Amino acid sequence: MTTLDNLPPLREVIARHDLRAKKQLGQNFLLDLNLTAKIARQAGELGGCDVLEIGPGPGGLTRGLLMQGARHVLAIEKDARALPALAEIAAAYPGRLTVINGDALEIDPLAHLTPPIRIAANLPYNVGTELLIRWLTPRDWPPFWESLTLMFQKEVAERIVATPGSKAYGRLALLAQWRADARIAMTLPPEAFTPAPKVHSAVVHLTALPAPRYPADAATLSRITAAAFGQRRKMLRASLRGLHPDIESLLEQAGIPPTARAEEIGLEAFCTLARLLKPAGQDCPVKGG
Ligand code: SAM
Repeated sequence: MTTLDNLPPLREVIARHDLRAKKQLGQNFLLDLNLTAKIARQAGELGGCDVLEIGPGPGGLTRGLLMQGARHVLAIEKDARALPALAEIAAAYPGRLTVINGDALEIDPLAHLTPPIRIAANLPYNVGTELLIRWLTPRDWPPFWESLTLMFQKEVAERIVATPGSKAYGRLALLAQWRADARIAMTLPPEAFTPAPKVHSAVVHLTALPAPRYPADAATLSRITAAAFGQRRKMLRASLRGLHPDIESLLEQAGIPPTARAEEIGLEAFCTLARLLKPAGQDCPVKGG
């Protein structure tokens, strides 16, 4: 069988390198190269961009990104068993694929990347959420990346694009929408993966805004939203009590009823509260974590 890029089909690659999926590494592989090409297209115009890919596995999405014209792909993979398969892709695209064997949560990729940079990944969901929060909450903005194209469990994707008042609305929506445009680009059924997970998945595409929608200190906003949605059924005057001795008055100054619950409050009001807790240029008066 021939493929779009003249490399062997992924089933053959997996069999030849004995890449049986390991549950503890969250390995649910995409083996359809038409599908990985479609996901790569969601990442936008890749010609002239470096792409950071986390968790390439046998390389289905990596091949999609290279076929879409990525100038250079830096792929970080924890599972050393995938390295020979990825080396074959690197040989087919000379000078365009660099693979680092390691944990994406531990590695700083910036030394290996040249702007403009886009990020694409089909990751285990827990790692994906942690990386997403890190990519969204650096102190300074704009960040090192222009866009993120990430696979999530469908429920997590819905939390990223949710609006106030909905069940899915929470910290992820606020942090994502504060500094980026976020949309669900496509949804995938369990059968798209090998082995099939129990849940549906979705690709979320986020584009970094040139500046946050409203001014606020990232660490303060992150802390407020963690406290507010950590106890989302509580009134804000209770869930945010640990942040300031007179939180009720700060809530009122921000135009937020102290008896309101986090899910009723929009991004702008949370940013106003963050500014009241930490006025620009002032160093961290916020208590706790
Ligand atoms: N991108 C491939 C695909 O779409 O078929 C593989 C996707 S699979 C869901 C997730 C991949 O992430 C696996 O290859 C796994 O080994 C890798 N992985 C898991 N945790 C990782 C981590 N902390 N850092 C880097 N890679 C990781």
